[in-house]
This record gives sequence, structure tokens and C-alpha cells, in this order.
Amino acid sequence: MSKAERGTKRVCSDCGEKYFDLNHDPIVCPLCEAVFVPPVVKTKPATRRGPSSWYKN
Ligand SMILES: [Zn+2]
Repeated sequence: MSKAERGTKRVCSDCGEKYFDLNHDPIVCPLCEAVFVPPVVKTKPATRRGPSSWYKN
């Protein structure tokens, strides 16, 4: 299995298990089955895109 197929290495926030996400979505810990929530990546400063984008649920 290649690196790409294993996906990204994750650390379970619940039990601390290290595992590869296998590019699954959602990413579930193989040990405790906790769903991994990726940390929010802040790539840009907050940009106002107009009211319509904010009122969508
Ligand atoms: Zn876990």
C-alpha cells in the first residue's frame, strides 16, 4: 500500500491513537471509533463576502 493510499496520519483526539485516515470521510479512529474532526486551517484573514454567505445555514 502506498503512502497516498494510507491517507494522512492522524492522532485521535479521544484516545490518542495514531492512525492513517485512508482518505476516509468521515475519519473514524480504528480503536475507539471517535470521529476525527480536522483542525480548522486558517489560510486567510476573515474576509467579508457579503451578507448572503452568512445567512446560509
Ligand atoms: Zn480513538
